[in-house]
Amino acid sequence: MKTMMAARLAKPGQPLLLEELPVPQPASDEILLKVEACGLCGTDLHLAVAGDIPVERMPITLGHEAAGVVAVAGRDARSLREGDRVVLFPAAYCGACRFCLQGRHSLCDRSKVYGMARDGALAEYVVAPERSAIRLPDAVPFEIGAIVTDGVATPFHALRSRGGLRAGETVAVFGCGGLGTHAVMLARLMGAARIAAVDVDEKALARARALGADVAIDMRRGDPAKAIRSAFGRGADLALEFVGVPETVEAAVRSLDKAGRAVIVGVGMGRPALPPLAAFVGREQSVLGSFGMDRADIEDLLALVAVGRLDLSASVSARYPLAEANSALEHLASKREGVVRVVVVPSTS
Ligand SMILES: [Zn+2]
Ligand SMILES: [Zn+2]
Repeated sequence: MKTMMAARLAKPGQPLLLEELPVPQPASDEILLKVEACGLCGTDLHLAVAGDIPVERMPITLGHEAAGVVAVAGRDARSLREGDRVVLFPAAYCGACRFCLQGRHSLCDRSKVYGMARDGALAEYVVAPERSAIRLPDAVPFEIGAIVTDGVATPFHALRSRGGLRAGETVAVFGCGGLGTHAVMLARLMGAARIAAVDVDEKALARARALGADVAIDMRRGDPAKAIRSAFGRGADLALEFVGVPETVEAAVRSLDKAGRAVIVGVGMGRPALPPLAAFVGREQSVLGSFGMDRADIEDLLALVAVGRLDLSASVSARYPLAEANSALEHLASKREGVVRVVVVPSTS
């Protein structure tokens, strides 16, 4: 029996186990992916370190930002063949429920997120439904393809699908880690007139400025909503929140102009308060949740990267072999050297 290495979560707060497992066999409608790159993100830290996001079963192989090559295509695979370069949508979706039929794949009724509900890509191989694999253009490196699936697609979904950003509008980005950094880049690409970056970390703010933010606002120095108003001369048309705590959600809503939209991407158990209804209703403001992405978000981003319109070459801060998956997680958690994304590359050792 052929075996492989996999980095598995057995208990939150404890290092991932590096285990030798049988190479999984794809069902007839699945593919076996040889993983060439797997990105790590804040969700992995919640799962592996904090333990505040539930996991369906343990041990489970982590990793939901995958790119690789089709090693085996199941009998009923229609469009993919052995050797095809693909990325995976971060969850196996059913393709048949009402949300899948509307193209809103992150809302799938039968969604199985890799690393939470089925084995993920922090391994040499992973099996995935063929329908949830997306072709990776030859011009896009595996590690960039991997981070596009979540680290870039999530802020794109928030800006485009949920936030409805139009060229000429102003944008405020609360939290400039991996997602927020890409939100700044994408807002600029999409024609935002002015972009404000809000964080508590100087390196993150400096990076956001370098990538296109017009103003950098340190939340430790007073109310960011006031600072945004004084920088823009009025409130923001769109505020994105990537932190997931009531304080920043409330600041994002406070920063809005009339008709402004606050799109909340950060998740947590806190309960932010709405402004008084007279203010909120009378200004026609919206507060929207944004969860993950649609398949089209990933496809469109890969096309932008392939033609050179979106340069993500500075987004991979570090690469680690699979055997050092725990060091990779520690690196991401440390936020050292202004980390954007950390990628595990199983073929290196
Ligand atoms: Zn993620
Ligand atoms: Zn579905």
